[in-house]
Amino acid sequence: MLGLMQPKKLLISSLITHAARHHGTTEVVSKTVEGSVHRYTYADVERRSRQLARVLLGLGVKAQDRVATLAWNGHRHLEIYYTVSGMEAICHTINPRLHPDDITYIIDHAQDCVVFVDTSFAPLIAEIAPRIAGSVRAVVMMTEPALMPDIPMPAGMRLLCYEDLMAGADEDYAWPEFDENTASGLCYTSGTTGRPKGVLYSHRSTLLHAFAVNMAGALGFKATDRILPVVPMFHVNAWGIPHAAPMAGAALVMPGRHLDGKSLAELMNQERVTMSAGVPTVWMGLLQHLRASGERLATVERIMTGGSACPPLLIEAFGDEYGIEVQHGWGMTELSPVGTYNSPKPAQAGLTREQRYQHTLKQGRALYGVDMKIVNDAGEELPWDGVQFGDLKVRGPFVASAYFGEPAGSALDAEGWFATGDVATIDPDGFMEITDRSKDVIKSGGEWISSITLENIAVSHPDVAEAAVVAALHPKWDERPVLLVMPKPGRTIDPASVLEVYEGKVAKWWLPDAVLVVDELPHTATGKLQKTTLRTKYRHYLDQQPGQQTVPAPG
Ligand code: ADP
Repeated sequence: MLGLMQPKKLLISSLITHAARHHGTTEVVSKTVEGSVHRYTYADVERRSRQLARVLLGLGVKAQDRVATLAWNGHRHLEIYYTVSGMEAICHTINPRLHPDDITYIIDHAQDCVVFVDTSFAPLIAEIAPRIAGSVRAVVMMTEPALMPDIPMPAGMRLLCYEDLMAGADEDYAWPEFDENTASGLCYTSGTTGRPKGVLYSHRSTLLHAFAVNMAGALGFKATDRILPVVPMFHVNAWGIPHAAPMAGAALVMPGRHLDGKSLAELMNQERVTMSAGVPTVWMGLLQHLRASGERLATVERIMTGGSACPPLLIEAFGDEYGIEVQHGWGMTELSPVGTYNSPKPAQAGLTREQRYQHTLKQGRALYGVDMKIVNDAGEELPWDGVQFGDLKVRGPFVASAYFGEPAGSALDAEGWFATGDVATIDPDGFMEITDRSKDVIKSGGEWISSITLENIAVSHPDVAEAAVVAALHPKWDERPVLLVMPKPGRTIDPASVLEVYEGKVAKWWLPDAVLVVDELPHTATGKLQKTTLRTKYRHYLDQQPGQQTVPAPG
């Protein structure tokens, strides 16, 4: 027997029609690429999205066609999110920080037919236009006619202006109903290894993720919130905020292209932002600005950090000096993207300030909709004791089952689990802590050493700005850790003093065999340490260095 409830489909268009009807006057504020501030409401977003649907129909966009964006967080990007998925096409967000060859590969792989572009990416689109002419028939610059750049287009590809097209379109459009499992969005992972791979979201997975992140134990938006997503809409769906905020009726403050500490502090205060989300690098930049300028953030209550490990300093400084709670989450493109969030359970009630801050460094407990486990090399599940670490696997209705172009289920093991590529512990309360990426863990004499743990300790040294630990081949132990440290501006690092900070914090056999001071460390397009380059470069470092430090046997 089927239930007798209304068979209303979980479609993305319902998010924006809900916001327009029930939170119609709530603001969406955007710092435009050109520098001005644009403000309107959810009612305007929905109306203009219908207008944009008429534009795209006019450009020949059909159901399931891929429509790409190369854009910062802003109101037009939001309209494109809702229009493209709402009209049953697929919104393909592209990370403009990728190498142009990767962008060309992605556009060709996705077979995008239209690309929306912010004017700041005009040189990029001019460079790649001849190479994407196979599928792309129109480039729409997201601006007004007066600000249109002049870009030569190859034969068969049109250069169009967003506001010009909108001026010629009416709003007479009704959002269609279709199967909630229909593809809605496409995002390629950055390809830290191999070619980028496309994750293809559905309407159902997007809505379930929006519900999950909106729970009180996660992002938990309220209609009184004003949210500033620093995390980009061009990668990992800005952690689901463009969907979760309208669902809750929270106002959005879009930062555009300037994500430095000064610009963010100014926007946060001007627009009375209550909550913001971004990667640790962004928060370190904001902290440096606040400390240097003496400014305060008048309305910000909490910030979410994720995307890479959270430096302890962030939690302490924002908590103690500014009264802002730092919340830590973990996820990946393949998880829509949020998988865990670190919010307390009753067991954390009695923690001291230090213990609480220490606990926040963990990546958190599973959102509803995500199950997780850790396994050893033989694939056997490991206990949740907070000590043993193994490969982290996940499953759930907003976890990818395959990459774009591959058969459904092909990214899963026989029991339907997806291997995240992260190595983690899970404690008895269900809090997961990443100890490494599978490829970065150092396998010394059959035991695992966490590169992330060693990096976190290294950055507690007063002269160290950033640290990377890589596995170097070793004749006796197979692999041993080599530590690379980059000094803070104007400082010099004494390598021996860096080893001293490890005292009492890790077992002796975890100590790096070498400490090398470098001028800079390479990063990926999403701002993470590019370990692949470093691994290749330092793979044979210890082989080639006579008389390296000898270490006691593991255990
Ligand atoms: P990429 O940037 O490589 O395209 P994602 O943006 O999907 O991929 O990044 C996912 C990865 O980022 C995770 O598998 C994990 O290694 C890392 N990551 C995400 N959040 C955290 C966190 N809070 N702490 C440590 N690592 C994290």
